[in-house]
Amino acid sequence: MKKAANIMAAVAAFVLIIDMLVMGLMIANDNYDGVTVCAYIAAAGVAALIAGAVMKISANKCPHCGKVLVTSGSFCPYCGEKVERK
Ligand SMILES: [Zn+2]
Repeated sequence: MKKAANIMAAVAAFVLIIDMLVMGLMIANDNYDGVTVCAYIAAAGVAALIAGAVMKISANKCPHCGKVLVTSGSFCPYCGEKVERK
């Protein structure tokens, strides 16, 4: 799950960078239809980035009590057990 989230975030970031470059070219060429399409792709890229981040957070669960860990400490704030970080 965590790996899938990382891949998703990497792909989304890559798409966003390419999209920004293409959008710059479209603006330079006064192609505003193209800019609109790029804006939609950028919105999808941002949504994918957020989804990836949410997946990453929710994949980070305490192995002892199963609660989602949002903090980066090595102990679970809910049950106090030690959490192994990969
Ligand atoms: Zn716990």
